[in-house]
Amino acid sequence: MIDTHCHLDMDPFEADRDDVIKRAREAGIEAFLCIGSDFEGNKGAVALAEKHDDIYAVVGMHPHDAKDFTKAVFDQIKIWAAHKKVVAVGEIGLDYHYDHSPREVQRDVFRQQLDYAKESGLPVVVHSRDASEDTLSILKDSGVGQGVMHCFSGDSDMADRVLAMGFHISFAGQVTFKKATQLREIAKTIPDERLLVETDAPFLAPEPLRGKRNEPAFILHTARFLAQLRGVSLEDIDRMTTLNARRLFGVGELPAGQIAYRIRDSLYLNITNRCTSKCIFCIRSSTDFVKGHNLRLAHEPSVEDLAGAIGDPTRYREIVFCGYGEPLLRLDAVKAVAALVKQQGGRVRINTNGHGNLIYKRNILPELRGLVDSISISLDAQDEDTYRRLCKPSFDNAFQEVINFIREAKLCIPEVSATVVAADGVDIDKCRAITDELGVTLRVRGLDNVG
Ligand code: SF4
Ligand SMILES: [Zn+2]
Ligand SMILES: [Zn+2]
Repeated sequence: MIDTHCHLDMDPFEADRDDVIKRAREAGIEAFLCIGSDFEGNKGAVALAEKHDDIYAVVGMHPHDAKDFTKAVFDQIKIWAAHKKVVAVGEIGLDYHYDHSPREVQRDVFRQQLDYAKESGLPVVVHSRDASEDTLSILKDSGVGQGVMHCFSGDSDMADRVLAMGFHISFAGQVTFKKATQLREIAKTIPDERLLVETDAPFLAPEPLRGKRNEPAFILHTARFLAQLRGVSLEDIDRMTTLNARRLFGVGELPAGQIAYRIRDSLYLNITNRCTSKCIFCIRSSTDFVKGHNLRLAHEPSVEDLAGAIGDPTRYREIVFCGYGEPLLRLDAVKAVAALVKQQGGRVRINTNGHGNLIYKRNILPELRGLVDSISISLDAQDEDTYRRLCKPSFDNAFQEVINFIREAKLCIPEVSATVVAADGVDIDKCRAITDELGVTLRVRGLDNVG
């Protein structure tokens, strides 16, 4: 994991800083973003980044210290910011809770540092407490579009607006506190690719360590808590947030394209990036990553590649053919790999757009009999016009053919379900009437809910 916000330079770590860093590494922390917040803090953060390969620095002036922001300080921040281990400008922002600096001064200092971040191309680490409106309007005016709202404590309206500006949202130990009901609800809804995690050490130790001095190793408590909240594993949270931090701050390496990846207890096979639809909600056009896995294939995997990637299929609840594309475009590979999985006692599911019979101009479903336990078919609309508008299929009459596909699937595959993405113009009740009539269950997916 990456602790995207800690203050390792601060006095509470003076006596045992090396031990704290060592404990974090042993707990699996691969990198630390040490955040400067005043002049001495910035200096300390840069010195730590110079001393340790896995520590990076973030430099800027905290709103508490905005009153000490002079031209000389700003010049020095700019010098530090050019250092190769400095990865962002921060923490900057507004704090109307403590008002340690006059609000007018806070706003001015925030604006100046945002302008500098924009000019230098660095992302920003933003602190905002009891100052949502001003923070959002200043951020918006600045035109800065990359950064993180650290130690998020706003409401869902603020979260939506922060995300709309292209920002990440980072959760610290607060989300684990017993009374943080509203914050927990928000933490459930942040898209995978915008989620970050931090300690803000030495402050805000998570439950069950609340009240102690916080340290980066404790990030695992917050991460485990977020995993439970979002219904994924700790490993998933680790992978997603680490990837997000690497991408946002440019630290570490990005993963190569993957043909098999685990989400919860299922193994997903990414067998093609081709598709016979161009759904307007498809995330393939905007990102290569799903739950922290890079799904952009350099080439399509062979049956042998796939068998090797699966290993023993009984280690998983099911093996899911999906793609970052339409898996049935590779029908022969699906059949061959499914046969291997079944021989070894595994369970097989296919996620498809239901165009199989259109692609092959024959009914392919009998060919899947005995090889596939479950199939999930995208219905995606209540009528042909809506389907055409949302899914942009490469076939005419595709919607009717998807319905026929569902009907035929019921005759050959034990478990058949349909899915619909809750996009604009989709009438869920009408979709449900269709699936009720077909006798299959309907699963409704949120727009951001992938995997
Ligand atoms: S069917 Fe799936 S992979 Fe194909 S365009 Fe639609 S959402 Fe994307
Ligand atoms: Zn802060
Ligand atoms: Zn901080």
